[in-house]
Amino acid sequence: MLSQLEEIKSKLDIVEVIGQYVKLQKAGANYKALCPFHKEKTPSFIVSPSRQIFHCFGCGAGGDIFTFLMKIESLEFNEAVKLLADKAGVKLTYESPEINSQKQKIIDINEKTREFFEKQLENNKEVLIYLYKRGLKEETIKEFRLGFALDDWRSLLSFLIKEGFKPEEILQSGLVISKKEIPEINTKIQDTRLDSARQAEYKIQNTDLYDRFRSRLMFPLEDASGHIVGFTGRIFQGKSPLKTIKDIEAVGKYVNTPQTLVFDKSKILYGLSKTKTYLHQLEATLLVEGQMDFLMGWQAEIKNIVATSGTSLTPYHLAILKKYNNTLILGFDMDEAGERAAERSIDLALAKEFNVKILQLSQGKDLADYILDTKDPAEIKDLLNKAIPIMDFYFQRAKMVGDINSLEGKKAVVSYFLPKVKKLINPLDRAFWLEKISRYVDIDIHALEDELKRIVIESAKIIDENEPEYQYSSSATLTSILEKPRCQILGERIIAFLIKDFSLKDEVKENQKYFPEEISKILEIILSAKLPDDLEPKNLQKMNLKEEIIDKINELALRADYELEMLEKFNVSLKEEIKKQLSDLKQEMVKIRQKKIENEIMLAEKNKNEKQKQDLIKQFDQLSKELL
Ligand SMILES: [Zn+2]
Repeated sequence: MLSQLEEIKSKLDIVEVIGQYVKLQKAGANYKALCPFHKEKTPSFIVSPSRQIFHCFGCGAGGDIFTFLMKIESLEFNEAVKLLADKAGVKLTYESPEINSQKQKIIDINEKTREFFEKQLENNKEVLIYLYKRGLKEETIKEFRLGFALDDWRSLLSFLIKEGFKPEEILQSGLVISKKEIPEINTKIQDTRLDSARQAEYKIQNTDLYDRFRSRLMFPLEDASGHIVGFTGRIFQGKSPLKTIKDIEAVGKYVNTPQTLVFDKSKILYGLSKTKTYLHQLEATLLVEGQMDFLMGWQAEIKNIVATSGTSLTPYHLAILKKYNNTLILGFDMDEAGERAAERSIDLALAKEFNVKILQLSQGKDLADYILDTKDPAEIKDLLNKAIPIMDFYFQRAKMVGDINSLEGKKAVVSYFLPKVKKLINPLDRAFWLEKISRYVDIDIHALEDELKRIVIESAKIIDENEPEYQYSSSATLTSILEKPRCQILGERIIAFLIKDFSLKDEVKENQKYFPEEISKILEIILSAKLPDDLEPKNLQKMNLKEEIIDKINELALRADYELEMLEKFNVSLKEEIKKQLSDLKQEMVKIRQKKIENEIMLAEKNKNEKQKQDLIKQFDQLSKELL
């Protein structure tokens, strides 16, 4: 695959690709523009034609043509590759043609099935009437192409066979079940009427296959690019013999297409193919559970909405949503049981640094009911604006947990609220809420801080669990810039300048020992280069370096281009700047090392190790002399 990526890259020019989205201006050897990924007034978005990369020194976004396209078009890596391969005229062969054609076959079968279900809905007026009664309009039903699966064992199967599909192909689509799967189902529904109905059916026909979806409202599920990959079927009781709750439980209120080559319910968000452009523009996503809530919301002009289908929120979903915006509004039912069920979703979203809000609907109502009952469209539109931040929501809840006039009550409030504080990633947020709860329960903040330290969060590792296989671009770049220690920032700047001006090599070499470990390897490579030309991209490739090192050197070279321009503007010479940076770096690193020795001295003192202590003091003094 890698060589194909290289081939695509070699055939396309990054300036041309990015130039189609952003107005680029020539700036020396590079191009610059206002960054499309964050708001800014002066350009810090730089594109390098020689290195074929882009980097924003404002928000940290950066990478190659693939990264750029993924970010700007909100695509998956594979999709970006496909698009650029088309543009470059490169034929992709990384997926075996056999798998590709199997996938295409399933999509074709789903396509035909959707048409079939749509027809059945047209022919079954009582189902349509039911949908109207639930509040859906005709145009919504048409737009989202809802359908109906007959109360029949083989109507879809025989339709698809008539359409020319082979039984084994149909089985792969998950739309039919093979008899071999039956024993397990049989035990589950042993004493329902369905069981005998099913057995009678088998006596009549002895085909091995039967329809998965029977007597159900059918919602087609599309992936982000609009391919139909599966279905959700909601039980329709009007015509079905199933009347008791037990019967319904036996067959499932909702049934999804099982996992297939093209469908994985933990990765599908209902409606995304239609709403993705709105998620970008409106900078928040309303997440609901189930198709009815989604459709009613969409109909009520809430366009930045998606729904999970028969699964709770997964890290895959969050990774997808993160590409569009950072605010997640949960439209779940948040009564006590609902809150507990939603807690994991909330934790996952917070761990991914989403700004989480809660939609407040009156008790026990889901979004669909709320919209159906609310006559004023303005009130519905305002709903999202009134969503409250998750911590405010928890704080309100905390106030109801106990009566703060008693110690017991205070304890209850604190033990409900502190774990929520613990999960906050940002220390300022933590401090803010700790202060707030401290004032509310009137308990000293230091006592609460101690308590907070004692709390162990069960799944501290939630971020790693089920992480998508690839995350080509991530917000990691941004946080790493913000959290980089000062010595590393200084060191990187010096290296960046060095790449531009080799005459400074000796001075840097003298101070090599002050560079932090994280970048010492890169410094060594740069110092060992003979000519600036050695660090040009084509020559870097020859040096047999790790990809991440090459990326880093390219980024630093671009940083130098960017900063040199500033130095010129402010009339500062590069040599002066490097000298100043070197002395800053030296000071910073000596301080860090002295701090470490101080700690060791204290330890030696504690252990009454006099000799070690004297050695350490000597080292400390030596370091101080280096600063003179
Ligand atoms: Zn930016």
